[in-house]
Amino acid sequence: MSSEADTGPLPLAQRLSEPAIADAVSYAVDQMTPEYVARPETVDDLTGLIKSAAADGAAIIPWGGGTQMGLGNVPERYRLGVDLTGLNEVLRYDPDDMTMSVQAGCRLQDLNLMLRENRQILPVDAAYPEQATIGGLVAVGASGPRRLGYGPLRDLIIGMTVLMADGTVATAGGQVVKNVTGYDMMRLHHGALGSLGIVVSVNLKVIPRPQSERTVVATYQTLKDADRAALDVAASQLGVTALVVTNPEATAEGTGVRGRFWGLAVRCEAPPSAVVRQAERVVQYIQASAEEVFTEESSDESDARWQHICRAIDQRRDSPDIAVRLGIRTSRTRDNAGSLLDELKSFGLSRLTLDYGSALGYLRFPGSEITSEDFTEIVRACNRYGDHVTVMTAPAEWKHAIDVFGSRPAGFSMIESLKANLDPDRLLNPGRSVGRL
Ligand SMILES: Cc1cc2nc3c(=O)[nH]c(=O)nc-3n(C[C@H](O)[C@H](O)[C@H](O)COP(=O)(O)OP(=O)(O)OC[C@H]3O[C@@H](n4cnc5c(N)ncnc54)[C@H](O)[C@@H]3O)c2cc1C
Repeated sequence: MSSEADTGPLPLAQRLSEPAIADAVSYAVDQMTPEYVARPETVDDLTGLIKSAAADGAAIIPWGGGTQMGLGNVPERYRLGVDLTGLNEVLRYDPDDMTMSVQAGCRLQDLNLMLRENRQILPVDAAYPEQATIGGLVAVGASGPRRLGYGPLRDLIIGMTVLMADGTVATAGGQVVKNVTGYDMMRLHHGALGSLGIVVSVNLKVIPRPQSERTVVATYQTLKDADRAALDVAASQLGVTALVVTNPEATAEGTGVRGRFWGLAVRCEAPPSAVVRQAERVVQYIQASAEEVFTEESSDESDARWQHICRAIDQRRDSPDIAVRLGIRTSRTRDNAGSLLDELKSFGLSRLTLDYGSALGYLRFPGSEITSEDFTEIVRACNRYGDHVTVMTAPAEWKHAIDVFGSRPAGFSMIESLKANLDPDRLLNPGRSVGRL
């Protein structure tokens, strides 16, 4: 019997002749529906599939948990959706070395539940950790509020296996913490939105789980007061792990405090005796002009509080809201965010979260109240006050007119030539990443 090794890859139509896992419509991206959807459960299946797609010239969009599929430029073409949640094995976990190797479809929440048994943690945020996969986290390369305390996911990656557009497997790094010499190929794929390769598995460092945590919440009459308190905490030696300021709508959603108040939330993570002292010190820093100050007294409540805060930031693809992220230096947050808010007043801004740890601002507007002209004005105003601007979610017809990632970064021609080398037929997430890569 002849095998694919002798005859070449099977055409997609033959390989996927059995009905795929789900209705292709649920794998639509920016209103483009794929012709095929597959959910491989082994790396061999995935490799065969990608080889078939390459032979057919079929454009591929990888899927993890699907929580961030609204992010990205409108795809140039899309024939095959590849759901990677079937590749969900923990390949290795070494608690003594504090390293693990996991397949791309592993969910963040499942990994943290496993790590919990050894009092360890992968300290990254996601608004929906029960859905977010490691592959998606790596491909998006974003950071949440906890970056202040633990740095970005990129710094926890020590090795990676990636499937290239022609179906060859590439491995970089390894299992040990210090292993990179020469070019660090892993960084290529972090934040590339799956445009240079499909992440198959990732080797990660983990850290000891903080023994306990507290969240201090304060409310203020004005952005100016909240900003001053945030800057005081940032300049202190208190070592807090997350620090955000929220406008009244985001304060209501994230902290539960209703009314016209700006909010400040500060996350403290430390051993039980230290965390109480740390939270008390934070209160001393932030109470001067506060309306109200309270502390979440249990670790579970504190953790849950940050889930709410992250969800107030999130931009799911099924959200009707328009969401924009902008870089905003902490020293200029008050002035720039203040001016931006004045300009955007008439557009019905619903939520603003200012993450002082990542120097990012997240804005959300009710989609039903915005016209395409308003959208253009919003993006223009964000560009005036932000260092860099990303439109996180917006209707596909509006995204056509812009690069959602803003202007091309310095050195973009190098990224373009990498794409031309690694994916010459533009099969992986074509057009969706920075600069419509
Ligand atoms: C408040 C908040 C905080 C966040 N904090 C962090 C953080 O601290 N650290 C962090 O890393 N991220 C963070 N994120 C980003 C985000 O949570 C994740 O990137 C997200 O959950 C993606 O996972 P997913 O499985 O749903 O990906 P999906 O939505 O399925 O995919 C996202 C993108 O990645 C591509 N993709 C998916 N899987 C693969 C793969 N295996 N190979 C190649 N490409 C692939 C897809 O094509 C798509 O373009 C944060 C987001 C929010 C809203």
